[in-house]
Amino acid sequence: MTTPVSDFSDEELVAYLEERLCETESARLEKAMRDSADLRVRASQLLGNQSEEGVSPGAVWARHGLSCPDRTTWSSYLLGLLDDPELVRYAQFHLETVGCRRCRANVEELQTAMTGDPQREERQRRHFESSIGRLRQIIDR
Ligand SMILES: [Zn+2]
Repeated sequence: MTTPVSDFSDEELVAYLEERLCETESARLEKAMRDSADLRVRASQLLGNQSEEGVSPGAVWARHGLSCPDRTTWSSYLLGLLDDPELVRYAQFHLETVGCRRCRANVEELQTAMTGDPQREERQRRHFESSIGRLRQIIDR
């Protein structure tokens, strides 16, 4: 009946939401948030949302404004490993609609780093040509 994951203080949650946590801690907290409805609720409450419903990290981010998914999230996104549809939507929105420069740079770098599997590379190249490449043309015109 108790939730096992609660080794994050409110301060850490706030730091995460304000992107003051280091990458490692952010990734750890994110993982914990995915596994713990309690943590998600706490995070959303810290954002002023009193909903008792479980709130996904994507929703937390979206509500928080346009803060950036971290690199772990982006690599999962690139690999198609994000299992939270809301988070995928948010990542797409953030990258393609918002066109966050910081995240685009991150994603490009990750893309470059993810070489070694030609098939995967090809899949990603196609994906980026179809979506991000197109949007980049729009944004950078
Ligand atoms: Zn961003």
